[in-house]
Parts: sequence; structure tokens; C-alpha cells
Amino acid sequence: MQPWVYWKFLEQPDFGPGPSVHTILFMTDLNVESVSTLGKWFNSEDAWKTLMAGGNQTDFRVGPLATYAFSPHFSPGLQHRLKLDVKAQEYPPGVLLLPLTSSTLKPFSKTNLVVFSSKVPVEQDALSRLQGEALIVDPGCHPSEAQELLSKIVKSLPKKLFVFLTHHHLDHTEGLPTVYKENPEALVLAHELTIRRLGKVQGKLKCLPVVDGASVLIGNEELRVIAAPGHTDGHMALLHVPSHTLIVGDHCVGQGSSRLDAAGGGNMQDYLSTTRNFIGLAPRVIVPMHGQINLWPLQMLRGYIRYREAREAKILSSINQGARTAFQVVSQAYSDTPPALWIAALSNAKLHVDHLNQLQQLPLDFSKALFQKSCGVGFFLRCLSYSSFRMLKAVPQSHHGVWKVPIAIAVLGCVVFVDKMICHKS
Ligand SMILES: [Zn+2]
Repeated sequence: MQPWVYWKFLEQPDFGPGPSVHTILFMTDLNVESVSTLGKWFNSEDAWKTLMAGGNQTDFRVGPLATYAFSPHFSPGLQHRLKLDVKAQEYPPGVLLLPLTSSTLKPFSKTNLVVFSSKVPVEQDALSRLQGEALIVDPGCHPSEAQELLSKIVKSLPKKLFVFLTHHHLDHTEGLPTVYKENPEALVLAHELTIRRLGKVQGKLKCLPVVDGASVLIGNEELRVIAAPGHTDGHMALLHVPSHTLIVGDHCVGQGSSRLDAAGGGNMQDYLSTTRNFIGLAPRVIVPMHGQINLWPLQMLRGYIRYREAREAKILSSINQGARTAFQVVSQAYSDTPPALWIAALSNAKLHVDHLNQLQQLPLDFSKALFQKSCGVGFFLRCLSYSSFRMLKAVPQSHHGVWKVPIAIAVLGCVVFVDKMICHKS
């Protein structure tokens, strides 16, 4: 056997929230006969053909490492073609991901911008027939943090550009003025509810509402719009048909579970139906807008359903045991979650209660009106007082942080005062 020699260093972009994984590749000549029991071996040409065959077969796949290693050998790659000197990941070939700093919620700090660009030019009036030369998904980067980078990306793209928005949240749309500045002719595609919520920038942009099943052609590559309500009511996903890659917006996240937006029309029944619809599509890869891609979509999506059902069962159990206010329900059903995250959990808890109500599973003496009323300031005050109590309890044991005692007592005093003033008045 030949000695192993250094081949190349592959640097992964910073998707967060965990550290990036960089890889050093070494090469040697293997005697395939002697290692045949270890697995299926194929040469780089066959690996490339398998990857580019697309479809929804999920029995085996060629992963990103092999793709990064071999793609320059077979195809120059989208990033290379666009001459983009930024950290990006192209997987599957033709689907370029750039994590850009955004005003998103912790533990994430970036929103993935997805870029498609055609090798072939299209006709003059093609935009009106949903055929263009390039498409970006969710330009949600922070104006001061990543505006320059987004400008550079838009400048590098052909002029017949679509901007697909999965939904209206600021961390998915904040870069729209930058896109407009660089290319005022770019056409925004989104659900009509999303377009209505875009605020001031909507007046300037060219927008076109799209519906489930609409096809967008970038050169000759098809992207299909998939209605995906749940996270918000206007939430949509996009299927890259040649590689069977599903870009899921905020329906899935790279780590943990998605927080639904009750105020933006989020709905638990819709969320579960969309998840089942995604399972039916059997995508090969899932691209979330926060965190890393997922190469095992069916396991991930089935896990989401199991997780949601388990959480809903806990919420129902807490209600059956007498919990009536939002704080009682969340503190019992989310006892496995740090109290600091209970405020973030409230939105999903409310939607689970709505879902249980829809299924007529709530006990007769449960007042939905009382529960809704307790979701406001009272909930935040009780979370605050609970955290202060925990802080006071922890200090004598650790002898550390004695300085926190007066702060906790002051917070408790304020909470009791405001609680009396606001909550008991209404
Ligand atoms: Zn969102």
C-alpha cells in the first residue's frame, strides 16, 4: 500500500451554535479487495454520478465530505463560478449556503442564505413566467454586521434574480433593502400573508405572491414551492427538485426544536400536518435557516413529531393535575427545561393548549379565557420571581455570589409590587 499523503484542508463555515468542523484529507492507493468487507466502495466518478442522480432514494448517499473533496475535479462549483470569496458550503452541488450574522434568537446568531444560480442565460421576459437566472432564499442578515457581504453576493449574481422568503420574521428579511439597493428589479416571491407583513420595505420591492405547487425555474433547474404553515401561517418551503433538497425555513432548526410564532399565525395542528407532509416528500437533505443541514431528514422529522406529542402529553397531564395558569402549566410541563427558557417556551405551550382544545381533550373545568389572561405580564413576573427564589436558595449552599442576594430581594419586592398593581387590578 502507498503511504498516506496530505491532500487538502476543508474549512467548514461557521453555522453555529456549536463549533465548526474542519477536516484534513489524506490520500493513498487502497487495495480494495482486502478491505471489501468494510462497506461499499466506489470510485469518484461513480460517487459523483450517484450524487447527481437526485430523486428521493434514501438507502445510501454521498455526503458533503466526498462532495467537497471531489467536486472541483468534476465541476467548478457555484461559489467558484460566482467568484465569491466568502466562507460557504455547497451541498448538494448547486445548493450554496452562506451563514450570515442576523438578529436571530439564541442559541443561533446566523441565518443561512441559500443561493442558486443558472449556468445558462434566460430570455428577456422570463421573470414574469417564474424563470430566472438566480434565486436567493431568506436574506435575513443584520444590516450593520453583514450588509457588505450581502451586497457582494447580490452583485455577483445575474440580474434576473428571485428572492424567495420562507416567512416574514426580521431575521429572514432584514437584508431586503440591501438586495433592493443592488438590484431594484429583483422579484420577491412569498406567501401573500408574508408579503403583507413586510412593513415599509414592501412599498419599494417588486413582490409576487406564490402558492403551493408553484414552479420556479433557475435556468433549467426546477424549484417547487411547498406550503408549510405552522411556524407562521404564511410559512413556505422550497424543494430543489434535481437534488431533492428541502429548504424548510424555520420549520426545522439545526439544533433543538423550532419556536412557533403564535402572534404570526403559528398553529400546532398545521405544524404537525406540515411535518407529515415533509415526511411524505422524503427529501434527501433538509436545509434549515439556522444551523447545519440534516442528511437524515426522515429521522429528524419523525423525531420532531415524537417530541411535540410528548410535550403535548406533558401539558395535558399538568392540566389534568390542576394546572390552570400559564405559569403553572409551563413550570410543570417544562420542568426538564431551564427556567430561563420558559418565557421562550410560552408561545409553543399556548399553541399546544389551543391544539388540545381543538381536539376537545381539555377538562371541562379548564378555562381557556383564564389561561389566555395569565399569559401576559403575570407570566413574566412569576418567571422572574421563581428565578429570584432559586437564586436565593442557591447562595447559602455555594457561599458564592452573596452579592446576588440584595438583587434577588429587590427583584422579588418589585415583582410583588407590580403583580399587585397590574395583575390584581385586571
Ligand atoms: Zn421565524
